[in-house]
Amino acid sequence: TLLYTLRNFALLHSDFEITQNLNELEDVVVHIVPNHLEQILLILLDNAVKYSGALRVIQLDGVVVRSQVQIRVEDSGIGVPEDDLPFVFQRFYRVDKSRSRGQGGSGLGLAIAERLVAKYGGSIAIASKAGQGTAVTLTFPIVQRPKSN
Ligand code: ATP
Repeated sequence: TLLYTLRNFALLHSDFEITQNLNELEDVVVHIVPNHLEQILLILLDNAVKYSGALRVIQLDGVVVRSQVQIRVEDSGIGVPEDDLPFVFQRFYRVDKSRSRGQGGSGLGLAIAERLVAKYGGSIAIASKAGQGTAVTLTFPIVQRPKSN
């Protein structure tokens, strides 16, 4: 169903080039309600769309790093100025009110995502350069590894 949701999202935003590589996460078990993971990813993808510049490219990657899963949503959009970066997970924080008012956001998305991720023992981190793009990385502990054969 996660892949189904992602495909739907890509269809809704067919003017974007959305690529995904989650193959590495096949058979890896993470303790999270699927709907919640979906909700978190949609918040991140939604932001990637809203704050994309002219370059409408979004990349979703999933990798296994030691005992953790890392899922990254990366865009080539307008980015977040360094001074604002520490605050974007705060409720109602928006970088540029006038700039983003047209996008109709409330500044709650990342705050909700952070709370949901924490609920499952995970973490969320953002890396960004103004004018270049943003990458948000989710990390979750792996409950069960795939059988190696
Ligand atoms: P919503 O509650 O609808 O998601 P929002 O997008 O304003 O509204 P957040 O998702 O919490 O709220 O994001 C907070 C702020 O961080 C945004 O207003 C935006 O300025 C900045 N931001 C978040 N994601 C990105 C991104 N991918 N690229 C550039 N800026 C971003």
